[in-house]
Amino acid sequence: MPTPEIRCPACRWKPGPDARWSCVPRCGTVWNTFATGGLCPGCGARWHRTQCLACGVVSPHRDWYLDPDDADGADTTRERDLATQG
Ligand SMILES: [Zn+2]
Ligand SMILES: [Zn+2]
Repeated sequence: MPTPEIRCPACRWKPGPDARWSCVPRCGTVWNTFATGGLCPGCGARWHRTQCLACGVVSPHRDWYLDPDDADGADTTRERDLATQG
């Protein structure tokens, strides 16, 4: 399984393995939040939003993971599953 591509939803900056986030104002632990899926190793807090170190925009953590299926084109087929019922 290839690792999902991670990039900032706002500016497309890609955090490397050396990127670090701080658990503030909670426990102050500094770690790579994408190594733990947004979970602070210090206090166990889950961070649902992640701030970009490049542009400063705060985005939902899951939005940083680029889904290969959604990589190109607009998302126009989402309602199709509902239409096939019954
Ligand atoms: Zn913490
Ligand atoms: Zn950014």
